[in-house]
Amino acid sequence: MVKKCAVKNCMSGSIAKRKMKLKQNNRPTALFQVPKCPSMLQKWNLALSQQLLPKNFVCELHFKEEDINKKFDRIILPNGDIYDIKSQI
Ligand SMILES: [Zn+2]
Repeated sequence: MVKKCAVKNCMSGSIAKRKMKLKQNNRPTALFQVPKCPSMLQKWNLALSQQLLPKNFVCELHFKEEDINKKFDRIILPNGDIYDIKSQI
C-alpha cells in the first residue's frame, strides 16, 4: 500500500499529484510517521485538530517549510513543540 498523508482533504498522497511533482522535477512530498509516544501523538492530534493513529503519516505540507530542518529531520509543530523524526519519502 502506498503511504499517504492521513490529514483530511490532503491531496499530497494522490497519484496524480505525485506524478505532477515528479514532472516538475520536484522531489516527492515528504511524509512523517506520527509519533509512537502517546503524549506526543496527542499533541499532533491537537495541532491538526484530527484523531491520528500511530500507523498514520502526515506530509510536510502541514508544517511550515522553515520549521522542517531537513538535515536533522526536525520539525516544529504549529503549537511550537519540536519533534525529531526520520523523514520518509
Ligand atoms: Zn498532507
